[in-house]
Amino acid sequence: MAGAAESAARPARRIVFLGAPGCGKGTQAVVVAEALGIPAISTGEMLRSAVAEGSELGRRVESVMAAGLLVDDTLMAEVVRGRLARPDAAAGFILDGYPRTVGQAATLDEILAAGQVELDAVVMMEVPAEELVRRALGRGRGDDKDEVIRERLRVYEEKTAPLVGLYRQRQLLAEIDGFRSIEQVTKSILEVLHAA
Ligand code: AMP
Repeated sequence: MAGAAESAARPARRIVFLGAPGCGKGTQAVVVAEALGIPAISTGEMLRSAVAEGSELGRRVESVMAAGLLVDDTLMAEVVRGRLARPDAAAGFILDGYPRTVGQAATLDEILAAGQVELDAVVMMEVPAEELVRRALGRGRGDDKDEVIRERLRVYEEKTAPLVGLYRQRQLLAEIDGFRSIEQVTKSILEVLHAA
């Protein structure tokens, strides 16, 4: 039986989803956010909309995204600061795709500290590498060409994977087996967030 302290724990509400491209975090972010009544904030989606609209931001990030590289931290800080300042994020959020570098993790801490809140949990979804490639190829997005997929996976390993150790050290990390059905993964995530 779970201890009283554990079952009484308040659900996490300021949450980061971490994982390689294709791990399913976008899908899970939407489902889990809905269950918790908080917004799922995908920086990738925000940037893709900016590109589709042909806004100034979109023009600045288009070629970097098409190459599978990361948009620079300063620009991303502006995007995320603006989004988290919106009223719907005041009571919580799931960040899907941010932070992606150690610098971005520090920026997120600063943004949250300025609002006198902190991160509650980081959910890491683990999926075998071959499955990531298979999923990405099946998705058919503009930046999902074979060599771009490989580049995105390489960039993930180089720039984003170090965040796993960082958040583990801070005891915020929950590792989830992402190589299961969508429903099973959702259930595990809600459990680790004390929201089941
Ligand atoms: P995603 O949908 O999260 O895979 O993001 C798609 C693309 O948007 C990435 O390959 C990057 O080019 C860019 N992007 C999204 N989020 C970030 C971020 N936090 N930092 C830098 N680039 C990002």
